[in-house]
This record gives sequence, structure tokens and C-alpha cells, in this order.
Amino acid sequence: MPRIDNDIKLDFKDVLLRPKRSTLKSRSDVDLERTITFRNSKLTWTGIPIIAANMDTVGTFEMAKTLAKHKCFTTIHKHYSIEEWAEAFKEDKTTPGFVAASSGICDYDWEKLQQILALHPEIKFICLDVANGYSEVFVEYVRKVRKHFPEHTILAGNVVTGEMVEELILSGADIIKVGIGPGSVCTTRKKTGVGYPQLSAVIECADAAHGLAGHIISDGGCTCPGDIAKAFGAGADFVMMGGMLAGHDQSGGDIIECNGRKMKQFYGMSSATAMQKYSGGVAEYRASEGKSVEILYKGDVNATILDILGGLRSACTYTGAGKLKELPKRTTFIRVTQQTNEIFAGLQADDKKA
Ligand code: 5GP
Repeated sequence: MPRIDNDIKLDFKDVLLRPKRSTLKSRSDVDLERTITFRNSKLTWTGIPIIAANMDTVGTFEMAKTLAKHKCFTTIHKHYSIEEWAEAFKEDKTTPGFVAASSGICDYDWEKLQQILALHPEIKFICLDVANGYSEVFVEYVRKVRKHFPEHTILAGNVVTGEMVEELILSGADIIKVGIGPGSVCTTRKKTGVGYPQLSAVIECADAAHGLAGHIISDGGCTCPGDIAKAFGAGADFVMMGGMLAGHDQSGGDIIECNGRKMKQFYGMSSATAMQKYSGGVAEYRASEGKSVEILYKGDVNATILDILGGLRSACTYTGAGKLKELPKRTTFIRVTQQTNEIFAGLQADDKKA
């Protein structure tokens, strides 16, 4: 008989952060940097734990260069050629400290990952990304990569439940990517009916990871800086974004003119568009689990990242967290039925500040 879990599970849209009395004088008093020592690699990293997703329109070298200047992180997508990797980061000593090289689990990806890390010994992070982090072969792959690269910090996912977070950490991963189905161009929930509300997934997975001295990334579902603040408040150590960082100069893809408006293409990495581009089409046995959209061109990502960091600092000020690390301790979520006043929805002159 199927089991029904009657506990209420929540998304970012279901809650708001409760403001709390604080001694902070201004937003500029807030420290968004974290220094984290990873469980298995023993590596220590300092930076602002915001991550650009390893999607080919987001996790680009250009994005990494810009985000690194803000001490933010980028998981570089896995579709750059070895020649492109060889040309990357020349005389740039900063950016490699804020990037991960990504890999899937096939033999080709494994070979390429080894070549990339041989070319760039200064890169200390590896992102192992599969749509379904629950499979036995994935766990085996994490073990293999850990054995081969004992001192690299391994990001692995995606999963949404505590027991799998624990299994991946015990298999050698340091940071677990949490999120199945919340992404802006993801269609997994529609295609398969599988998923987990992101806020609850983060709360539960953070608890599991932290119990083992591991860490998690809230991956997907952030639509505005407030959602990022909620993800950190829920216990995420890092927050990964695709859609919010897409459509910029530093994002991949051309600008398209559409009815006099500048647009950029953005698509899921399991969409038919991506599969066409990299695998020559959608294999018969699988459905595409991502979509392709055209979004408004947003200009330089510097402005967006400053807007995000400003929002985060403000969230910390409202809740009385002097450091980002303190935000979960200062967090009380209030369940709500409404987030914003929609009377002028769609009428904003400046999209950036939405
Ligand atoms: P966003 O920030 O756009 O809401 O979510 C980004 C995340 O969506 C990515 O980091 C990745 O985990 C997920 N994602 C990217 N492409 C696809 C796809 O084609 N299908 C699914 N199911 N998820 C995707």
C-alpha cells in the first residue's frame, strides 16, 4: 500500500523571515563571507557561498571571472573542450580558487575531468552532477573520484533526503547538492511526478549533513534575493543559481532581437535543446526533463550580483545576523499565504529590482 507522508513540506514561497531586534547599525556591518573546512578533503575555503550553476549558459569562464571578483563561486559546465580549458585563467590567479570542474558519470566525463585537473592543479573543487543522485552507480562514482583525488573538495548531487545526503558524504563527498525539481527550466516534476519542496529539503538535508560535519548546497528554485536569504536561513551552506544569473553578458548564448526587445536563450541541461546540442538528440528511452526559454537580456552580471548581495545583507540586518553564518540561528520562518502585493505586477519599469 502506498504510504502518505502527512508532514507539511514547504517551498520558499510559503514562508517569510521574521524580523528580529538587532544591534547592527547598517547593512555594511554584515559579513557575508564564510570560512569553511570541508569534511573529507580537509580543505579550507573562504568566500561568499553563492554559486553559479554548471549549466552551459551560466557556468561559463566569463561568469567565473566576474563572480570571483565578488568572492562568489562558479561550477564550470562540463561542455568546454580541453583546448578551451587550456586557454582558461591565463595569468589569472584569483578565479581558479572560486571554481569547480564538473563531471557526469560516463567514461568520457571521467577522462576529461582528469585531463582538466592535470591542466589546472590550482582547481581544488570537483562537481559531480547527475539528475538522480540516488543511483548506486553514482555512489560508486563518488567513491572512485574520492579515491583518485583525496585532497579535492567534491560537490555531489542531486538529492533531497537526509539518508542519501549521509550516504554520499560517507562515500567521500564534501558538499551535497540538494534539489530535485525546483529549477526554473526544470520539468522533472511534470514529467515524472518526483520532487520535494525546496525549503523543507534544505532544512532536512542540512540537518543530516551538519550532523556528519558535511555541507550542502541549495540548488535551484531561487527567483529573487529573498529566496536566497531563505535558503541560507534554512541551513544551506551554499546557494546555487541558474535562472537568476542567466541572460547576462557573461552568460553563454547570443542576444536575440524579439519585437524590438533584446532576449537571450536559456535552457535546462536535460532539455531537448541541450541534448540536441551535445548528444545529437533526445535518446528514445528518455524524456527531456528541461525546457528552453527566451528571457530578457539583463546586461552586466555585476549589477545583479550586487543586488543579490545587498538583499542578503539586508536580510541579515532585519534578522539581527552579523554574519551570514549566524542567519540560521536567527531564523524563524513564518508561514504565509501571500508573499507580495501584486497590484502593480508586471508594471515595473526597472526589471532588475524586481
Ligand atoms: P534555477 O536557479 O534556474 O531555478 O535552477 C538551477 C538548477 O536547475 C541547476 O543548478 C540544476 O540543478 C537544475 N537544472 C538545470 N537544468 C535542468 C534540466 O534540464 N532539468 C532538471 N530537472 N533540472 C535542471
